[in-house]
Amino acid sequence: MEKVTFHGIEVDRCTKCRGIWFDRLEKEALKRLEGSERVDVGDPKVGKEYNKIGKVKCPRCKTQMISMVDAEQPHIRFEVCVICDGSFLDAGEFKDYKEETLLDFFKDLLLR
Ligand SMILES: [Zn+2]
Repeated sequence: MEKVTFHGIEVDRCTKCRGIWFDRLEKEALKRLEGSERVDVGDPKVGKEYNKIGKVKCPRCKTQMISMVDAEQPHIRFEVCVICDGSFLDAGEFKDYKEETLLDFFKDLLLR
């Protein structure tokens, strides 16, 4: 993990898979900041591969995390730690989470 700071918000990025760990509410806070998608430097294709690995341990407390989907964009699947209340997004997922595109809208309609 490496520390990445954007406008005072510090997140941890995995040096291997480029997934990003967000502490409680950091994901929401960063989403509102212009240009914050730059912290997500990973390849979304790699991120998708990691999505298939079901069991991921929390980088903070090593508890088994649970898989969640975003309420507004259900095609985004990420891991949450119920102990730390943080979340782990695979490479490319934060960008996707931040940018709600028309394509996302249709993708999510199909999932409903
Ligand atoms: Zn944890």
